[in-house]
Amino acid sequence: MNADKPTLLVVDDTVENLDILVELLGDYDVRDVLDTEAALQVLEETPIDLILLDVMMPGVDGFEFCAQLQAHPRTRDIPVIFITARTDEAAIERAYELGGKDYVTKPFKPRELLARVRLQLQLRAMIGDLEYLAYHDTLTGVFNRRRFFDRAAQLFKESDTDLYAVMVDIDRFKRINDTHGHAVGDQVIRTVARQFSEALKPGAIFGRLGGEEFALVCSANSPEQVLAHIEGLRQRIAQEPIPAGEATLHVTISGGIARRRAGMRNIDALLRDADDALYAAKHAGRNRIVVA
Ligand SMILES: [Mg+2]
Repeated sequence: MNADKPTLLVVDDTVENLDILVELLGDYDVRDVLDTEAALQVLEETPIDLILLDVMMPGVDGFEFCAQLQAHPRTRDIPVIFITARTDEAAIERAYELGGKDYVTKPFKPRELLARVRLQLQLRAMIGDLEYLAYHDTLTGVFNRRRFFDRAAQLFKESDTDLYAVMVDIDRFKRINDTHGHAVGDQVIRTVARQFSEALKPGAIFGRLGGEEFALVCSANSPEQVLAHIEGLRQRIAQEPIPAGEATLHVTISGGIARRRAGMRNIDALLRDADDALYAAKHAGRNRIVVA
């Protein structure tokens, strides 16, 4: 959500109603349209935080439009407040069944409508914060273990043998923690996460699995392509000085790369192959990337 000024979409087939609402909602960034077709256009182009939706409109009415929004992942989570002259219980029940968050009857009381808008925006922001916390690692901001596995499993389902997994581990991390303390250890973990995040290719999924262990799943044309990418990261990380008290510290990573094999049943099997390759990299002396 836009932090300083949420963007509202108001849909009503009566110009006078739109004028009243736009005036009332002056503290917000308001997009007003006369039909659902124009509403879809706005939704394509602009991130919308809340929709105020008239029920009775020619063509696609508010109820039908709300159902359409609910059917699409991109618009599903935008709260909808219905505004309508219909006050019968069946209509109110339907509004909630179709995914509407609230319902205001015409003629509406301006301050009541504003309070309801504020409440829905607050709820939406809270849900956004909670989702962020549920999906991200608090130390690094990258996907946490659960989110990584969910997204990686999804990618595994959708892709074929062009899929690769990479397991990454910071070398001798326990020693870094023991020698320099946990604050420096945390800084090391953040540095590795940042280097990977900044180099992340579109569609790739990266997360912190726990401790000093990270994983990446991505599509590529060849193992060499993945190796070149991860090898570049290994070198960049080895060169980046990390502040440790008076001195600076250099850390290295080891990595294992595996390609999805025919008949592989799930993402766990692919990650296991990558983990075996990582083990081989550790065994061969660390600070290197091994392809399974
Ligand atoms: Mg109407």
